[in-house]
Amino acid sequence: MKRINVTQSSLPSYEKYIEKIRSLWDTKFLTNMGVFHMELEKKLIEYLKTPYISLYSNGHIALEYALESLERKGEVITTPFTFVSTTHAIVRTGNIPIFCDIKESDYTIDETKIESLITDKTIAILPVHVYGNVCNVEEIEKIAQKHNLKVVYDAAHAFGVKYKGKGIATYGDISMFSFHATKVFHTGEGGALTYNNIALKQKFEVLKNFGIISQEEVSYVGGNAKLDEFRAAMGLCNLEIADEEISKRKAVFERYEENLKGIKGIKLNLRQPEVVQNYAYFPVLFDNYKLTRDQVFILLKENEIYARKYFYPLTSSFKAYSNLFEMQETLVALKITDNILCLPMYANLEISDVDRICDIIKEGESKI
Ligand SMILES: *Cc1c(COP(=O)(O)O)cnc(C)c1O
Repeated sequence: MKRINVTQSSLPSYEKYIEKIRSLWDTKFLTNMGVFHMELEKKLIEYLKTPYISLYSNGHIALEYALESLERKGEVITTPFTFVSTTHAIVRTGNIPIFCDIKESDYTIDETKIESLITDKTIAILPVHVYGNVCNVEEIEKIAQKHNLKVVYDAAHAFGVKYKGKGIATYGDISMFSFHATKVFHTGEGGALTYNNIALKQKFEVLKNFGIISQEEVSYVGGNAKLDEFRAAMGLCNLEIADEEISKRKAVFERYEENLKGIKGIKLNLRQPEVVQNYAYFPVLFDNYKLTRDQVFILLKENEIYARKYFYPLTSSFKAYSNLFEMQETLVALKITDNILCLPMYANLEISDVDRICDIIKEGESKI
């Protein structure tokens, strides 16, 4: 039986990439903000419609640098329905995560529950555009302004997403994008911060390169999180095919929708108004369906189809945090995490396989 994973990395043609990196054998300049790095920055500024960008060796470390740039430590309001990286970044930078519940409609932070979590220790809000679904950016902005808080978005899932005609990167103080191999656009490993404040540019650039200002001057205790030329070259090749890949994903997404819409107990991802999606994931909520989420997961696995329980369990339940801080109760997130399943979703997923996956889900019988 053919194995189908939840995702499969997009790649440019082999020849295209080899041709791209050929010049590295002439210049022998492999990292430290080389020509590919600079070109990728420029092209991403255009693509994401953001004023400023800094590239990183991965999205997680970029998020840590974003939080470090706030220059204050305290409580950060976030959600537990995310990849563990979001919560880790808060804790590893010496902050305390305060878990806010999510909305049943689109799984993003419930903005109506943020204010009651704000204390005199709160420094920032860190919402997640989960599955590429757009948070209520306007309301979050209002709350942040009223309480003088920074907003850092985990936009790891939201590459290319637009809201009201603007790139998602333009909302909030800073957004983090992941260019991991499993994401819509990737550099193998890689990531970026986007922001509107030019004052952050030098700081971000210097911090990811050991805090070095010049050969004999080190002004910050920085680290090393630079994106090298091989990865930047992969990014340049992948950016050329990004729109094509997203439109192929769209076809897969729509086929799933056709197959699964209107079935009792199956809730598909909301189509948000005024949002241009990137079709990064295909989450399905099994809510009183004839099969539970776990039964569907096993049934697909028996057919060599590897769906993923994104995101299960909630990050707030991880052992790594036990005894570190107080946990908030997030009842909606708890319900979603127990019932949601991400079906295989990638540009080259064959339509006949989408149909097969849906048939298995529809024809499956509960064995209990
Ligand atoms: C992928 C991901 C990250 C981390 O990005 P990396 O590039 O893998 O370090 C952070 N948050 C979310 C929600 C992600 O999906």
